[in-house]
Amino acid sequence: MKITSAKSFLLNVPVGSEIADSMQSVTHLEFVGLTIATDEGITGTGYTITVGHGGSVIREVIDTLFVDELKGRDPHAVREIWQQLYFGKAHWIGRAGATTMAQSAVDIALWDIIAKAAGRPLWQVLGGARAGDIPIYNTHAGWLNYSVKQLKDEALKLIDQGYTALKMKVGLADTKEDRRRVAAVRKAIGEKVLLMVDANQKWDLMQARHGARLLEDLDLSWLEEPLHPDDIRSHRLLNEGTSIPIALGEHVYSTHAFRDYMESQAVDIIQVDVCRIGGITPWLEVAAMANAFNIRVCPHAGDLMQVHQHLVKVIPNHWYLEVIPLWKEGPFRHQIRLKDGKCLTPTEPGASTDFTKQALEKFRVK
Ligand code: MG
Repeated sequence: MKITSAKSFLLNVPVGSEIADSMQSVTHLEFVGLTIATDEGITGTGYTITVGHGGSVIREVIDTLFVDELKGRDPHAVREIWQQLYFGKAHWIGRAGATTMAQSAVDIALWDIIAKAAGRPLWQVLGGARAGDIPIYNTHAGWLNYSVKQLKDEALKLIDQGYTALKMKVGLADTKEDRRRVAAVRKAIGEKVLLMVDANQKWDLMQARHGARLLEDLDLSWLEEPLHPDDIRSHRLLNEGTSIPIALGEHVYSTHAFRDYMESQAVDIIQVDVCRIGGITPWLEVAAMANAFNIRVCPHAGDLMQVHQHLVKVIPNHWYLEVIPLWKEGPFRHQIRLKDGKCLTPTEPGASTDFTKQALEKFRVK
């Protein structure tokens, strides 16, 4: 099998109503990636996501640094191609951020082809056999721009739908207000439902210690991204002083950084993101490493990063998959299927990354 062409795309998709965390307000998501065609007629799709800006930079990396390296190659050499792209033209200017996100898209498209060529869903091609549907938690009831009443109403609606785990945002200027909001939700949902909080990197070490202390008695399953994602030392110091497990990984861009986090005992739950870490190839390495450290993996945004629903079926140390159901009809051909607070096992061949024809036409940025 040989790659005959690779074409980038950029989609700008409205999210419905505006959503906010401590770092940003979001009205659109960009899906930027590429389709790779082969001489056997099989086409693969890979993409990454931005919160509405920067997609054109990632697209430029794909077009100018990666596309020429792919033509004529066999997609089955995906791990070799990963090394060559990583140590190739992008190395001097990258290794984190836009270049790694672009490489994620390429790697995912190649694995999508491999799975489609085998006629199987990706999780089967990767040797996955985890039985049953996938446990999920929902983030869509907990935005920072929601009032306390909205938070409680939305949380109760999700519990009615069968959800047993929810996440909400923190990181307001007044940490005591964060405490009031989380306590109100905890009271409304009761003790049985798992509750996580996410500060989206807003705090410095002093604020994070204060926040953790105020939230300590609310039986939280984790505190996510309390601090800057490059600051391993501060996460270790915070982790030493709080009983709330620390979760992070959606902004960590290398296997080396994940190793150092785990080795430093600075993290308890790994949220490695296949669209940021460089694709499926390094994602599997991080998950295996976490398993050796006896650490659970809960990937970032399972329904937006469609591939995660496959990957969690492959690893023994998966716990919960995040979902943020923004749309009734999403832009994907094989949208993740949620039922009774679970994610149904994908059955279609490939990595579930193809977009609908309609989405490609309607949302395409020229
Ligand atoms: Mg997060």
